[in-house]
Amino acid sequence: MNIHEYQAKQVLKEYGAPVAEGVAIFSADEAEAAAKSLPGPLWVVKSQIHAGGRGKGKFKELGPEAKGGVRLAFTLDEVKSHSADMLGNTLVTAQTGDAGKVVNRLYIEDGADIDRELYLSLLVDRTCGQVAFVASTEGGMDIEEVAHNTPELILTLPIDPLQGVTENKASALCDTLKLEGEARADGMKLFPILYKAFVEKDMALLEINPLIVMENGRLRVLDAKVSFDGNALFRHEDIVALRDKTEEDEKEIEASKHDLAYVALEGNIGCMVNGAGLAMATMDIIKLYGAEPANFLDVGGGATKEKVTSAFKIITSDPNVQGILVNIFGGIMRCDVIAEGVLAAVKEVGLQVPLVVRLEGTNVELGKKIISESGMNVIPADDLDDAAQKIVAAVKEVA
Ligand code: GDP
Ligand code: MG
Repeated sequence: MNIHEYQAKQVLKEYGAPVAEGVAIFSADEAEAAAKSLPGPLWVVKSQIHAGGRGKGKFKELGPEAKGGVRLAFTLDEVKSHSADMLGNTLVTAQTGDAGKVVNRLYIEDGADIDRELYLSLLVDRTCGQVAFVASTEGGMDIEEVAHNTPELILTLPIDPLQGVTENKASALCDTLKLEGEARADGMKLFPILYKAFVEKDMALLEINPLIVMENGRLRVLDAKVSFDGNALFRHEDIVALRDKTEEDEKEIEASKHDLAYVALEGNIGCMVNGAGLAMATMDIIKLYGAEPANFLDVGGGATKEKVTSAFKIITSDPNVQGILVNIFGGIMRCDVIAEGVLAAVKEVGLQVPLVVRLEGTNVELGKKIISESGMNVIPADDLDDAAQKIVAAVKEVA
């Protein structure tokens, strides 16, 4: 689960991290009062969307000449006009896709005078099985590009869970970030704080890009992106309360109600599969035959007919879906349950697109019988390869 920058900063502030004062607003009328409550004379008006690259982003409605989604304001009038410009408009960044995201909230923040922009993040490093810091002096920009062109400028530093952030580790981070004087003292305090917040709140990612050294020599968290491990949310009511459903895909919200592992994608072939690995393989093979999956979906092992029906309805509710591939390898999941679920969904919502079904495993004969006797217009397939070719061909024919 993702949260907004201003919420992430609030969480970090509670742990004692240095963040600027700021006020979140939902309408342009609130902008002036928000700015007046901050010291000034520099303010930053920041679009709050669940995507990065806002500074370099462009608003669809404002044309290519207009400024991006993070703007400095030197007067109260500028705060007001930037706010009016941004709220309700669609911001397109390198991370939003072409559709962009509508800005419904702004964060008005006390501005900082920046000396240097650094990169710092915490993540779960699966290669060493530990939480690791990633640090670089090359902050503020695309870290993927830095990793690609100048990997020697990035330090990855795993933290032993029994020892936590030791003096040595914190020093190593300070060295990498070239922190001196007060900034170094701030860093020695900040790194253990961030690690504590990460572990206690079950974060999956905490990215500060940039962490800044201000002209007064102090450190400040200038941007913060946090995502949480969904499997641990049950023990963080305070975090769940921060969820902003307007940022999430409606189909994904519906899927989460039914406890389905569903991720919306941009292709046109809907997939219903059991098992995450098989779902990945199904997406790969669709791509191999030249088409794109519309979603990832793992209906899980012990899914009921009702769950399968909901899954099928979510797939068909996606206007981009021009064909559906059902690929089930029945183990705990029984093929007849899948067949019943698909049938029930088709009865309810109809079937406007080609449907290829590949069933194998437990109760496969019964599953095939239910489908063939249903009168549904289904293209049967013998194996995954055959199924993928058939659905790709069927979709091309329709298009
Ligand atoms: P992002 O574009 O979504 O990553 O948003 P950021 O919060 O990282 O802001 C983008 C850029 O705006 C930063 O890298 C800074 O260069 C600039 N910026 C943000 N806040 C301030 C500030 O308080 N003062 C100054 N001078 N620049 C800022
Ligand atoms: Mg940033």
